[in-house]
Amino acid sequence: MKIGILALQGDFEAHARVLQKLGVDYVFARAPEDLEGLDGLILPGGESTTHMKLLAETGLEEAIRKMAAGGGAFFGTCAGAILLAREVKSPAQKSLGLIDMSVARNAYGRQLSSDVMALETKLRSEPLEMVFIRAPVIEKTGRGVDILAEREGKPVLVQQGRVLAATFHPELTSDTTIHEKFLQLANGAGHLQNVSAERKNMTPAKGKKRQRKPHR
Ligand code: GLN
Repeated sequence: MKIGILALQGDFEAHARVLQKLGVDYVFARAPEDLEGLDGLILPGGESTTHMKLLAETGLEEAIRKMAAGGGAFFGTCAGAILLAREVKSPAQKSLGLIDMSVARNAYGRQLSSDVMALETKLRSEPLEMVFIRAPVIEKTGRGVDILAEREGKPVLVQQGRVLAATFHPELTSDTTIHEKFLQLANGAGHLQNVSAERKNMTPAKGKKRQRKPHR
């Protein structure tokens, strides 16, 4: 399996450190040809307006759309999640539209713009540490989007098919759970899941007792 990390701007090196830790091959993607033969692409945090501009200028926007059409996996964190959204607000800007969701940029307000908290996810029974830095808020998700974690009733980790998006920064904590989830999507098989479950001696996640309302 080969993974690309979009390396035009932002915290792409933090993602590289996580993949190194997991022993996964990766390349930094800076031009359309860097996407050839990739199973998955990570879109890091940073500044989404700058990212979108650079994607268009380098031809990567077109190459990413082709990779998506060919069934590639994608993982966006913070600004990367904004790029993956179908609709971006405050202010409105162009995006890749690979997840059916509407996001509002920098919507947690000034005081709450950066925060670290432990929240529940559908990925395992223990809460997961999440670092929010001038994070967007996911205001709406379509029917095909699975909400894997929420903060204050708003989704913060979502999945649609092989596309995963977090409004926080899993690459800035030592916990590799979310990257492993992405690698499963990129791999298309349960292999890594088994490996990590054995290593951590985890029991499979149990069904939630309390059902949360879906966000539409
Ligand atoms: N606020 C940034 C944006 O709107 C995202 C911040 C981040 O990636 N940490 O693009």
